[in-house]
Amino acid sequence: MMNAAFQRILDLLFPKNYVCLMCNREAYAPSNQLCDICRSRLHGSSGYNSIEIPQIDGFKWTFLFDSTTQGCIHRLKYGNCKYLGEFLAQFIEIPEDWQIDYIIPVPLHKKRLKKRGYNQAELIANALGKRLNIEVRADILLRVIDTKTQTSRTRTERSQALKGAFNVAGSIEGKHILLIDDVCTTGATLTACAQELIKAKAARIYAATVCYTPKQ
Ligand SMILES: [Zn+2]
Repeated sequence: MMNAAFQRILDLLFPKNYVCLMCNREAYAPSNQLCDICRSRLHGSSGYNSIEIPQIDGFKWTFLFDSTTQGCIHRLKYGNCKYLGEFLAQFIEIPEDWQIDYIIPVPLHKKRLKKRGYNQAELIANALGKRLNIEVRADILLRVIDTKTQTSRTRTERSQALKGAFNVAGSIEGKHILLIDDVCTTGATLTACAQELIKAKAARIYAATVCYTPKQ
């Protein structure tokens, strides 16, 4: 058996290339591949990582959206770094009193899915489902209108643009749903999803995202 001090000396003599998957910088033995600096930005357990979103019974975000987390999300979405879905999912904390039947990723329109090859929210949802042993259903909620990028729009403009964007296919009556997405900005997308799920008689809708962008 090697003791920790000796291992540390070995690590210093023969450094391994540890890299933080969030900020892409070299780090000394990051835990769960997250360096100390990025870990200090993790709000998953701090109690204020929540905001009120219309139609959503509970919402948790994990990291604030800043230049560092944005870089990671960008690599996940456009850089084909699918492993980041599992990496990010491990930091999502779900309150114990959320009794969840199905995890549902916020869907992409099929045109966008074809272009990108995968839905980053689904990668996160799959990893979370595996960890929590909850069924992931990516077949229930469909995006039927390909809405334009929403970055510069206000909440009201977004809600307007999202009218009719989602459809429910499948039975979710009485079910408790957890919606998963990579980023929440105004919450308009989550609300639009929730409205459809409620129409289909879901009992409770929770949501969790990796990042949250507070709007001024
Ligand atoms: Zn880092």
